Amino acid sequence: MVENRALIAATALVKRFGDFTAVDGIDVRVAAGEAFGFLGPNGAGKSSTMRMIGCVSRPTSGRLSILGLDAARDGPAIRARLGVCPQQDTLDPELTVLENLVVYARYFGIPRRLARERARELLDFVQLGDRSGDKVEPLSGGMKRRLTIARALVNEPDLVLLDEPTTGLDPQARHLVWERLFRLKQRGVTLVLTTHYMDEAEQLCDRLVVMDNGRIVAEGSPRELIARHSTREVVEVRLDLDNSDAPDKLDGIGERVEVLPDRTLVYTEDGDAALAEIAARGLRPSSTLVRRGSLEDVFLHLTGRTLVE
Ligand code: ADP
Ligand code: MG
Repeated sequence: MVENRALIAATALVKRFGDFTAVDGIDVRVAAGEAFGFLGPNGAGKSSTMRMIGCVSRPTSGRLSILGLDAARDGPAIRARLGVCPQQDTLDPELTVLENLVVYARYFGIPRRLARERARELLDFVQLGDRSGDKVEPLSGGMKRRLTIARALVNEPDLVLLDEPTTGLDPQARHLVWERLFRLKQRGVTLVLTTHYMDEAEQLCDRLVVMDNGRIVAEGSPRELIARHSTREVVEVRLDLDNSDAPDKLDGIGERVEVLPDRTLVYTEDGDAALAEIAARGLRPSSTLVRRGSLEDVFLHLTGRTLVE
């Protein structure tokens, strides 16, 4: 059943560049209506995976079916039904905002009148209606990203692929993009996105896989992943240099202690109790912070590294 309704079904999917393996045998299922994420640091293999799903890059091996079609055989038919927002914007700076959508719509054989009508609707949707006659170049990064998202929607796709939709944007611009993507999701559009921002993954994804070095290291909803690999709360302490052996002294506090170059993390169900215990042992951190467990902690726990270096 699930198999039949999967919009994306990848089995043992591999992408090699020469003798370098960028995607190392991943299995992925994405169901209709899901917002699905690939979370991982730079170089994890996210874009390589997205390009195979988008049928612009051939799998080296493995099976990949998109919208029930075979990616290796039915590339053009699949591409016609996808919306794609690549990692780097590929807007035409010579054209106006509106023309960028209209010209792109022509690739899908959408008649010019309909294309213009749809383009105007989409520009309103991404809050660029008042910029439709402007050239692309002076737009801010966030506006260009929203325009690329609008462009990805001109063929009314069932499945939209977004490769790092908000990388490089300031917080306000990111929230605007998130809000638009959330609306798409509410309309029942299936979203597949990549990100190295744990907050983005937590905000947008119903389900995600954590990727590292071309492999999937965990899979689940953000909440499941945090419950499985982190704790309810995390205490971050900065310990003074003369306390450099302090991590040992923290032994037994909380469920687990992780020592990073700049701070030490104590994983615990009760942050305040852990802080009290730290004080009771005579340790005097120069700063302390109690926060909720996050996908960043999940990644750190699974790989020993942080998501954003
Ligand atoms: P991500 O999107 O997660 O940052 P990529 O899929 O872009 O990761 O890249 C994964 C790895 O594959 C990186 O080490 C990258 O340098 C390498 N890679 C990606 N594309 C190519 C290519 N066309 N030729 C050679 N190596 C590549
Ligand atoms: Mg990438």
